[in-house]
Amino acid sequence: MATFAINLKDGSVESTRETIIGIDLGTTNSLVAYMKDGQPVCVKGADGKSTLVPSVIHFAENEQIIVGDAAKNKLITDPANTIYSVKRLMGKSFRDVQGTEGYYGYQIIDDDTESLVKIRVKDRFYTPVELSAHILRELKTRIETDLSTVITKAVITVPAYFNDNQRQATRDAGKLAGLDVLRIVNEPTAAALAYGLGNGTDAAPSTVAVYDLGGGTFDISILRIENGIFEVLSTNGDTFLGGDDFDRAIVSLWQQELGITTQELNENKELGQQIRLLAEAAKKHLSSAELFESELNGRKVSLSKGRFEQLVEPLLDRTVACCKNALRDAKVTAADIENVIMVGGSTRTPYVKNRVAQFFEKPVFDSLHPDEVVALGAAIQADILAGNQKDLLLLDITPLSLGIETVGGLMDVIVPRNSKVPSKAGRQYTTSVDGQKNLKISVFQGERDLVEHNRKLGEFILRDIPPMPAGLPKIDIQFIINADGILTVRARELRSNLETQVEIKPTYGITEEEMALMLIDSIQNASSDVKARGVLEARNEANNLLLSGRKFLQQNEAILSEEEKAVTNALLNELLEATKTEDKDVIHRAIETLNQYTTPLAHRALDSNIRAAMAGKKI
Ligand code: ADP
Ligand code: MG
Repeated sequence: MATFAINLKDGSVESTRETIIGIDLGTTNSLVAYMKDGQPVCVKGADGKSTLVPSVIHFAENEQIIVGDAAKNKLITDPANTIYSVKRLMGKSFRDVQGTEGYYGYQIIDDDTESLVKIRVKDRFYTPVELSAHILRELKTRIETDLSTVITKAVITVPAYFNDNQRQATRDAGKLAGLDVLRIVNEPTAAALAYGLGNGTDAAPSTVAVYDLGGGTFDISILRIENGIFEVLSTNGDTFLGGDDFDRAIVSLWQQELGITTQELNENKELGQQIRLLAEAAKKHLSSAELFESELNGRKVSLSKGRFEQLVEPLLDRTVACCKNALRDAKVTAADIENVIMVGGSTRTPYVKNRVAQFFEKPVFDSLHPDEVVALGAAIQADILAGNQKDLLLLDITPLSLGIETVGGLMDVIVPRNSKVPSKAGRQYTTSVDGQKNLKISVFQGERDLVEHNRKLGEFILRDIPPMPAGLPKIDIQFIINADGILTVRARELRSNLETQVEIKPTYGITEEEMALMLIDSIQNASSDVKARGVLEARNEANNLLLSGRKFLQQNEAILSEEEKAVTNALLNELLEATKTEDKDVIHRAIETLNQYTTPLAHRALDSNIRAAMAGKKI
């Protein structure tokens, strides 16, 4: 990574390390940071005012593209040509965003619901990747101007729940902006790095909660930091909950007070944006004042801090519910959390901090600007990649469970959701039919008990298993996930050492909504799944018994009476009929009856077989 620069004045050659920058590409605001004299700093614009670049892109009359504060102002005067919240659309199809189009002041277009969404501005169509690239270019220019040097390498952060599609789209945007994206880092991990957590390999292990309430999204992550290793224990959140909702709550209050209908706001986009920006100003003002007073088109509007807190209370309740889920998934309690980190501009609202501190029963970390924390951490990660810090390591988790299909269409989970990446897990299986030569291994991802409700990632066949009776082959299946999140499934028949394997990309193509839906589904359908699973398991047990029962009759012809054979046959038929019902109790009863009748017969057969085996042998 070292480059050489020639000093034109004296001709000397000096070796310099190229600066790798850290970027927080946010839904609402984006920032760029770098390591300056061993400390991460966010870069301000040429005007020296703010480190935040509003993630807003305006297409002006003269074909010019404006990004940031100047573009944000155009939200009022020219909303149709001004794009915001583009991060929400990254890696999404039109169907993913259906029903939320009203949320955007601009036009979202797609004729084919399967393919990725595009945004129409005037007569052109833009992809979210192209639009994000405009924001990244703005950040690149900002730091190049500040440092008077060319920058080509970056680390970009994304929410921990971003799937492969969304991460890939973020990388693509970087490439389009002329940046080599060396690493995509999870935002909560960056936040923990910014607070210096995990520095020094001898530090005691700690469990950390990162509460990130931004403009449009809420994320809570539980991290475990030990020996300089960062591990995401769990993530939770709401992709439609953020400071924008605070603004909307204020807007609807003022709508009521001023008698403005929602239809009026929808038709008059300018008025809509105007009232939205005024609501945001009120909210920010109330972070350090008791009362907000202003005017909207000549009419007085106001809001007190107390009333504002009432308005956001239900929204904060929702974040607390997510925190509970995250703790549960991480198998820790609020008391186990040593540090709580505040991230996102919305945590500047004192009431938010109070509620979070109250929930975790400890003061929160808020000494850094919450909207800069992630970018600062990205700069530290960039520094680690540049080789300047050696004792830190980052780990990821699997967002959904991974497993294989077993008899009857059941999902057998091998790597549970929220497992550490890289990871390795396995289990042994066997065949269900005598002399079975091939075994199909189908790999699924999801939380439901039946594979038909989960997502198939791929399948492969272990061929040419040497002929053996059912149940004898020992087939070892290993799931290996490498640090890049690539899953390899390996199957090996241990008696013959036959082996085959396949590489599978686990999350590719799943949208974040799909992922959320799959999780919700698994909770809502838990009881019907349990029932279906019960029936399938009973049926599997019955089928095994049918097979072994028939074999038993064949092999022990000589020692069974005619009556015993007839009764056993009748009970086997009854069991076969029972397997055709959807009632696990009926199947279990038939299994029980057959077992009761045949157990003494089996003992007798066993004794006689042993006698036969011993007959010719001397002890
Ligand atoms: P994102 O991560 O979504 O890009 P940020 O972390 O920059 O967003 O947070 C943006 C949100 O923070 C916006 O809703 C903005 O109104 C809110 N915000 C910014 N400053 C304040 C403040 N002083 N008080 C309350 N909310 C604020
Ligand atoms: Mg953010």
